[in-house]
Order: sequence, then structure tokens, then C-alpha cells
Amino acid sequence: MKRGLYVGRFQPFHNGHKAVIDGLAEEVDELIIGIGSADISHDIRHPFTAGERVLMITRALNGLKIPFYVIPLEDVKRNALWVAHVKSMVPPFDTVYTSNPLVIQLFKEAGIPVLSPPMYLRESLSGTAVRKKMYHREAWEEYVPKEVVSVVREIHGIERMQQISKSD
Ligand code: NAD
Repeated sequence: MKRGLYVGRFQPFHNGHKAVIDGLAEEVDELIIGIGSADISHDIRHPFTAGERVLMITRALNGLKIPFYVIPLEDVKRNALWVAHVKSMVPPFDTVYTSNPLVIQLFKEAGIPVLSPPMYLRESLSGTAVRKKMYHREAWEEYVPKEVVSVVREIHGIERMQQISKSD
């Protein structure tokens, strides 16, 4: 039994994340998806709450061929303690999948194997690029799973992003 951990902010969960997870479903028996910065929402880099991201991911992965667990992870002020914090919150895992340099470094220092899945269309498929399109009301829907489109509409996510970026 091999259980993998995939950590991200998922602001929002996009097609690059989904492509990585579809690939991981061929490699591991179970997958834990850790939602980082779970405590941060309602700012322009982190517009969505942990609960909203749980909805996006759970709905978009409906039908994934392996069991998965979606677990929010609050940030901690000390990077040196973060791996212990993550381990205390999620089921046991064998390998971490990430391309984030800090996350790679922290897990490697803790002696945990780390693999970096390939990037898919990184220029258009990054959280920053998708949020920028959402904010400017450009076509963003094609970059995220359709289930994410419906969550963003349900929570009036675009209107939120525009409201919180106004000045008083
Ligand atoms: P992210 O949502 O930007 O990306 C998640 C993963 O998907 C990353 O591995 C990224 O490389 C990958 N990815 C992004 N675009 C892709 C694409 N087009 N194709 C394939 N893969 C793609 O999230 P992130 O920034 O990696 O999240 C790390 C989280 O860990 C953050 O929430 C951060 O705060 C948290 N963290 C916290 C601490 C702490 O609390 N001290 C320390 C380290 C990390």
C-alpha cells in the first residue's frame, strides 16, 4: 500500500493540479491532498476559504480511481516546524509530490522522499495566471475543471475578488 501526499494552496484548483493528480492515481494506492494556507482567505492571492477549496477539489476528483483525503492545513510561523505540523494532521504517507522549492527542501530535510511531477502548460496554468483572468473577467473557465467553475459561481467568487481589491 503506497500513500502519497500532494500539497498546494489551490487558489484555485486548476487543470494543472488535476493533471498531476490523474498521473498520481497511476502511481499510488491512496492520495492525501493537503490544502496549504488553510487559514488564509479573502485576499487577492488567497481569495477562497479552505472549505471552498475542499468543495472544488472533492467535486473535481469525483470518479478518481483511487481513494483520496482532502485535508486543510493551516500555515505555521516557523518553517522548521511545518513538516511535523503536516504529519500531525494527515494520515501516514510514503512520498510527497510537489514542485514548490520550499516544500521540497523542508520534506527532504525531514528525510521524507519527494518527487516532482511534470508541469502542465505552466504559463497559462498557474494560480496567479488563473486568478488574474478571474479578476479581469477574462475567460478563465477553460483553465479549471468544470466543477470548480460551478463552485466559484455558487460562492460569487469573482465578485468577491473585485470587492476585496477595492480601496476605501
Ligand atoms: P500551488 O497551489 O501553487 O501548487 C501546488 C502544486 O501544484 C505545486 O507542487 C506546484 O508546483 C504544482 N503546480 C502548479 N501549477 C502546475 C501546473 N501547471 N502543472 C503541474 N503542476 C503544477 O501551491 P504551493 O505554493 O506549492 O503550496 C504550498 C503550500 O504549503 C502553501 O499553502 C504554503 O503556505 C504551505 N507551506 C507552509 C509552510 C508554513 O506554514 N511554514 C511552509 C512551507 C509550505
